[in-house]
Amino acid sequence: MKDWKFCPRCGDRTRITGDGEDIHAECHACGFTKYDNPLPTTVGLVLDGDRILLLRREHEPRKGRWDTVGGFLSGAETAEENLVREGLEEIGCELRNLRFAGSYSSVYGDTGLTTIGLAFVCELPPDAKIVLSEENSEYAWFPLDDRPPLAFADCEAAVAAVAAVAAVAAPTSRTGSA
Ligand SMILES: [Zn+2]
Repeated sequence: MKDWKFCPRCGDRTRITGDGEDIHAECHACGFTKYDNPLPTTVGLVLDGDRILLLRREHEPRKGRWDTVGGFLSGAETAEENLVREGLEEIGCELRNLRFAGSYSSVYGDTGLTTIGLAFVCELPPDAKIVLSEENSEYAWFPLDDRPPLAFADCEAAVAAVAAVAAVAAPTSRTGSA
């Protein structure tokens, strides 16, 4: 919010008011108000049994760190539409069977921009062949209980949550398959 020094509508100086979670930039010349809403993003928890698909970022912020499939929502698209689009763009596969898995707050790199990651558990089609875009340098399937640290706090929290659920479910399923 501290970067909103000028009104995007009339160009006059804004005044930052409020505190804590309720901060906003006001323009007294034209009445424009910019609230501190987070930017919505998607977090694709692409699972294959107890393994998760992760991508290694090719660009800043957090270049070289592992990340989930997903990205910033654009225009009027829903989170589900966004995640399917991001899946096609980033790995060349149509993600399916999306199930909402919570929302997680984060900050995007060093920009100070707050994001809200809308997480979905999902899967690849059986015949999927992963083709990476230039956004990522490699992909890998990691066991949920033995994974690298992730690029952003929302992805990290979402994957930790799904891993915790899998850890509780695992003893039962292993007994069942033994
Ligand atoms: Zn203004």
